[in-house]
Amino acid sequence: MKNLKDYSEDIYKCSKCGFCQSVCPIFLETGLETVVSRGKFTLLHGILTGKVEFSPKIARYLDMCLGCKACLDFCPSGISVEEIITAARAEHNKLHGINLLKKFIIWCFKSNTRLKLLKSGLNIYKKTGLIHIADKIFRFSGKPGEIISIFNRQLKENIKYQKLTPITQSNIKAAYFPGCIGSYVNTSSKNAVTMVLEKNGVKARIPKGLSCCGISSRSAGDIQTFKELARRNVSLIPDDIDYLITDCASCGSAWEFYPEVLEGELKEKAQNLYKKAININKLLNRIELYIPEGIELEESVTYHDPCHLARFQHVIDEPREVLKKIPGVDYREMNEADRCCGAAGTFCVLKPGVSQGISSNKAQNILDTKAQMVATSCSACKIGLAQGLAGLGEEKTLISPVELLAKLYIREENQE
Ligand code: SF4
Ligand code: SF4
Repeated sequence: MKNLKDYSEDIYKCSKCGFCQSVCPIFLETGLETVVSRGKFTLLHGILTGKVEFSPKIARYLDMCLGCKACLDFCPSGISVEEIITAARAEHNKLHGINLLKKFIIWCFKSNTRLKLLKSGLNIYKKTGLIHIADKIFRFSGKPGEIISIFNRQLKENIKYQKLTPITQSNIKAAYFPGCIGSYVNTSSKNAVTMVLEKNGVKARIPKGLSCCGISSRSAGDIQTFKELARRNVSLIPDDIDYLITDCASCGSAWEFYPEVLEGELKEKAQNLYKKAININKLLNRIELYIPEGIELEESVTYHDPCHLARFQHVIDEPREVLKKIPGVDYREMNEADRCCGAAGTFCVLKPGVSQGISSNKAQNILDTKAQMVATSCSACKIGLAQGLAGLGEEKTLISPVELLAKLYIREENQE
């Protein structure tokens, strides 16, 4: 992986045109020049030339980045601030260590044992009804109630696993990477992917022992942890597959970065797996997708583009196509659908005020569509969407296109 100084030329390429100001969600929220790419490059130029000390205060400005890549689309010099900021954060961590809150979050998700404990705790919270009690007690308590409601929304399972009758048999041999949220926090999306693949005859195995994808450790500049997780995940995926399926946008994009941090045979394997990695929405558009006849869902739905899916993996039309194929779905495009939801991994915890402002903007665009449901393909985005809606005193079903499709299949199966 490249170091900060390896990006010197890219940083010097910034022409200071300011086009990035028009799209950077943080700049639009705060109006601060230091947070937009141009401002960050000015700071980094100072650091690289030794004129500015790389202090924790400077690092706080560098933390003001969602890694959404919106500025890259508009940058005439084609500079990827996301990569440069990751390298800068890694450099800062070498000098001053990693922020304690980030360190704690990464520590929780790094170990499967801790994730299993988290899963057991959440199961108790849900099964004993504590989740509903917390909802009721804190409902009118202002900000704490809002945070609990956002947290509880992440635990709502849209889809419970049910064995469906396969409609066909496909020769596709795949592995499925469900990610840590899908495996330990909310299995709804994982259930839906498994059911939709089974219904369409696609054999997809989930290898045992997979870890968190590590994308939050990478964006925090904790490259050592990202490397450990990459090593574990790459070694567990079999070679003899046609596809490596992901559904969470963040997990999908991690596979692009694994080759950068690995060496030797594992690096080669990671490069091959990256070529086989495919988002579930893309795969569903590639196969002859089964759509039952005579059954409808009657839902109005809008779609939010996760940055890690639209800008990192260029999957934009496919989730919309899946939604539009579902009979009875009234699809409504929202304004600025590809603008970041404001969650961005640890950003919503570290910069709650700015994060809330960005999420509220997104929520208003959702409300303007008057859609009943909001679809997205990223577990992290569901936090940003719930946060934005809660801030405006609203609540909506958050669902992924594949969960909605699984709902249709379940309705058909239960009708027979
Ligand atoms: S990646 Fe997103 S948040 Fe970061 S500078 Fe670019 S537009 Fe702003
Ligand atoms: S759009 Fe690109 S070149 Fe222009 S100011 Fe922003 S980072 Fe620099």
